[in-house]
Amino acid sequence: MKKLPVYVSEEEKREMTAAAEAFLCLTNRPQTYHIITYGCQMNAHDSEKLAGLLRQMGLTEAADRAGADFVLFNTCCVRAGAERRALGNVTWLKELKKDRPNLIIGVCGCMVQQPHMAEKILQQYRFIDLAFGTHNLHQLPMLLYQLLTDKSRVVTITADEHLIAEGLPVQRLSPYHAYVTIMYGCDNFCSYCVVPYVRGRERSRRMADILREAEALGTDGVQEIMLLGQNVNSYQGGDGEGFPALLKALDGMGIPRIRFMTSHPKDLSDELIRVMEESKHICNHFHLPVQSGSDAVLQSMNRGYTRTDYLRRVAALREAIPGIGLTTDIIVGFPGETEADFLDTIALVEEVGFDAAFTFLYSKREGTRAAGMTGQISAEVSGERFKRLLSAVEASAQKARESMLGKAESVLVEGLSKRDDTKVSGKGTRNITVTLDGGEADVGTIVPVTITSVAVNTLRGERR
Ligand code: SAM
Ligand code: SF4
Repeated sequence: MKKLPVYVSEEEKREMTAAAEAFLCLTNRPQTYHIITYGCQMNAHDSEKLAGLLRQMGLTEAADRAGADFVLFNTCCVRAGAERRALGNVTWLKELKKDRPNLIIGVCGCMVQQPHMAEKILQQYRFIDLAFGTHNLHQLPMLLYQLLTDKSRVVTITADEHLIAEGLPVQRLSPYHAYVTIMYGCDNFCSYCVVPYVRGRERSRRMADILREAEALGTDGVQEIMLLGQNVNSYQGGDGEGFPALLKALDGMGIPRIRFMTSHPKDLSDELIRVMEESKHICNHFHLPVQSGSDAVLQSMNRGYTRTDYLRRVAALREAIPGIGLTTDIIVGFPGETEADFLDTIALVEEVGFDAAFTFLYSKREGTRAAGMTGQISAEVSGERFKRLLSAVEASAQKARESMLGKAESVLVEGLSKRDDTKVSGKGTRNITVTLDGGEADVGTIVPVTITSVAVNTLRGERR
């Protein structure tokens, strides 16, 4: 049986408020911050919360790391490359600290939550002043206060995998787009993935809390919300409310656009498809990671579905919602992947016709089941397969864009085009970038267009 989430207590919240107030009275406190974020949307949203907390503590944002008193790296560890990049950049700051001894360097997030990395930071990265894991985010006021008053390094990772911290301040990156986390953690234990170990057990927020947050965002003029979770389809809001019920309630609120990610194919229900079909505000796009087109590889990945199951879900989505855009995640070079397995993946890409795919080279992660599997694939073979996969994905994406010609779309304008300031661009409901004639006044508004031509990676539209 699933353990219920543990909410951060009112007492602990009061302690954090007191720490933030005491921090404001310190004469040696940092005045400016800069946060560098690696990884997924979940991390981007965590950084918005970290920035919210820092603002409450009187800090303002510095334009770059060189000008900040406190530099915080919010890290990722899904692949080894992200970890290497973060550590490389932190080390770059070590030099800066020689000239500015009061500079505070912090590291947080998924990388730090791994006990072997926390130990490494403690022993080998002695210039890092503050390090904390994913479950300690809400404690930032107390940790910073402790650092400045005890004048010794603070490295902490909490093991409570069931924690939910409600009510944290959020410094949004965009005035018209907002992330809303609906659940934390993951219980799927795909054999390659480190997320369940660093983000904890799957736990859902209460539906009432999510609806209240969404309502406030709507009042604030937000045009699009993106619901976040590692597997949003298994959301369980308490009184038996699943993800379809949550989506239906949000759709009724009137925020112009609703998106969500990520969905797991094994939990994509007919009820969810029905809610999408009947909705007014849910975008015409579904991100459905397949990972591989081979049954043998899917089984070894512990994904819980077959190629046929996946294709059936795609068919059900397309039958209910004609014209829906599909995107996916694919891993190349998983241990034991044969050329025949790989060709099954290419064939699946061609059969589904994705709008886009995030493609990854398999990365061996300590502590996961796949790390101990036989049949690890050489970098040379994986690299060559990766190139072929990219070509297949690009051909599929091009076809998808061409299928949009003459169709109606609506674009949430994000800004002026970089090359031509008489044009603006933004995402259509299918999540493909569309460029159109326009100016500053269009930014943050939703403009109905007809798709008139296809460019590299984008579409061109004319106002309807
Ligand atoms: N929960 C989501 C899901 O199951 O689709 C995605 C979470 S993960 C942060 C994003 C993507 O990273 C995964 O879909 C997978 O394709 C990729 N990924 C995860 N672990 C990986 C690894 N060890 N090597 C390469 N890619 C990996
Ligand atoms: Fe990782 Fe699988 Fe969970 Fe996604 S569903 S976060 S890939 S374990």
